[in-house]
Amino acid sequence: MTTAARLIDGTAIAREVRAEVGRRAARLAAAGRVPTLAVILVGEDPASQVYVRNKVKACAEAGVCSLQERYPADLSEADLLARIAALNADRSVHGVLVQMPLPSHISAQRVIEAIDASKDVDGYSVESAGRLVAGLPGFRPCTPWGCMTLIESTGIALRGKHAVVIGRSNTVGKPMALLLLQADATVTVCHSRTPDLGEHTRRADVVVAAVGRANTLTADMVKPGAVVIDVGMNRNAAGKLCGDVDFAGVSQVAGAITPVPGGVGPMTIAMLLSNTVDAAERAAKAEGLAT
Ligand code: NAP
Repeated sequence: MTTAARLIDGTAIAREVRAEVGRRAARLAAAGRVPTLAVILVGEDPASQVYVRNKVKACAEAGVCSLQERYPADLSEADLLARIAALNADRSVHGVLVQMPLPSHISAQRVIEAIDASKDVDGYSVESAGRLVAGLPGFRPCTPWGCMTLIESTGIALRGKHAVVIGRSNTVGKPMALLLLQADATVTVCHSRTPDLGEHTRRADVVVAAVGRANTLTADMVKPGAVVIDVGMNRNAAGKLCGDVDFAGVSQVAGAITPVPGGVGPMTIAMLLSNTVDAAERAAKAEGLAT
């Protein structure tokens, strides 16, 4: 099948990001500060175990030290908060990540807020979100930050362009809209209560779909030449991984498009590594160490 759209190769772009992270990590290590990420997993959720394993592997490849902590599903919230407090106080740890979802007796929000803002490499805390809203430096959530890198890789000048984000979750849709706004795009955020999605997407120069439903964006909803970023991770009827975008149809109309898999997915871990090295560089600077 010939596609009109240029394929945005998330795997290759993530590899470049990780190579740069590796160079920065090596500089820090040479100065005696190995960037270190603590990854906490509570319970036995199989998908979470895979995510943690992938993060730990990516850390090792980039020269980032990962401390993997696994706890049984009946770990108390108090014990988890105490462990986070200890990691916050540990100057050799630069990033703290708690794999979601947590067992239902633990408040995810309390846990996220317990992570010191200087170590919130997932960028999920209210402080990190507030910094993004205010345009202040801080950790950007990894998936939308990765989407921005993919959009920039197309060479599109976002200033004055119309961007439509489908989805308004705190972890993807909302921060994505804010990042596009910061890049001077005119941003529309659509969600499940938007009556006519196509009316908005047809006017968009950039569409980011972060819904969790296959075929949400079809060819008739896309302006010719638009940049289309597919965050969705769904299983089709045959059990095959697919995004929110009808790739076969939309790739005939769009100017550039991410595939699923091989688009946004690889970027999320790459940006996590980047945030961790950022945290380590800031810590080194605060200690008066030049890297
Ligand atoms: P979420 O919290 O479930 O949010 C989904 C959003 O989509 C909500 O804002 C919802 O609107 C909106 N929505 C639902 N149906 C819609 C419709 N028919 N039309 C327009 N909007 C609709 O999901 P999420 O965490 O943001 O994740 C979204 C997708 O991205 C999922 O498939 C997830 O697996 C994937 N994801 C991938 C990565 C990656 O690394 N590749 C990372 C994170 C997430 P309401 O707010 O009105 O309910």
